[in-house]
Amino acid sequence: MNVLIVHAHPEPQSFTAALRDQAVQTLQSNGHEVRVSDLYAMNWNPVASAEDFSLRENPEYLAYALEQRHNSKTQTLATDIRQELDKLLWADLLILNFPIYWFSTPAILKGWIDRVLVSGICYGGKRFYDQGGLRGKKALVTVTLGGREHMFGEGAIHGPLEDMLRPLLRGTLAYVGLEVLQPFVGWHVPYISAEARQAFLVSYGRRLESIESDEPIQYPRLGQFDDRLYPLAQRQ
Ligand SMILES: Cc1cc2nc3c(=O)[nH]c(=O)nc-3n(C[C@H](O)[C@H](O)[C@H](O)COP(=O)(O)OP(=O)(O)OC[C@H]3O[C@@H](n4cnc5c(N)ncnc54)[C@H](O)[C@@H]3O)c2cc1C
Repeated sequence: MNVLIVHAHPEPQSFTAALRDQAVQTLQSNGHEVRVSDLYAMNWNPVASAEDFSLRENPEYLAYALEQRHNSKTQTLATDIRQELDKLLWADLLILNFPIYWFSTPAILKGWIDRVLVSGICYGGKRFYDQGGLRGKKALVTVTLGGREHMFGEGAIHGPLEDMLRPLLRGTLAYVGLEVLQPFVGWHVPYISAEARQAFLVSYGRRLESIESDEPIQYPRLGQFDDRLYPLAQRQ
């Protein structure tokens, strides 16, 4: 498999970076080809703006997604976007590797999503979920957090982890057609022993050894809905 790891942590010696290195090592030694986008090291620009397009379809009014479509057709997207998009289209598996910031991704990674998941290529019209532009590829979210495992789940103080990650897992990755695997989570990372952190690295390596046979999370399929996207089942 071709694997793209998009890594977002400001500290090169962080535990999140150790997870990235573990992934590179395990995947390469299992015969996979791996590329890494280290967003802080690249000084990635996360801000979606008019500067992303060198040939505007409408110079009077910026409709960002429409310009994404137009500029992808005319090959006039900003170079940094095009380079990331090429890596994404090359990959069979996308790994997003980051610490949870406020129940979400660090802003630099959110900006990678905003700018690289280009309308017209990754989604558009009725090309989403199982019809999304990236169908056939897989995605894995690898996160570290301060919270403890028992704080997440039905009835737990923060609710289910899947709810916290819903905008990313469902609203982004599944939306563009990726088969989304169960996230890998490093719980309570800054507060546990070095040995416990090492155990996370070992279990992550084991998980990646057999990642090709992981079952994806189930999301809606467009065939379950009518032309106006009402559920077919409710009409009977
Ligand atoms: C803005 C912000 C918002 C946040 N929001 C949330 C939130 O909503 N929910 C939540 O739960 N948490 C939240 N956090 C906490 C954050 O998610 C965690 O602090 C982070 O995920 C910890 O991972 P890290 O890689 O930064 O750990 P680090 O602090 O980099 O590492 C922890 C320790 O691991 C050591 N280490 C490094 N490499 C190794 C190795 N190979 N083996 C063993 N040890 C190693 C480091 O030296 C360090 O001592 C937030 C933090 C910030 C800054």
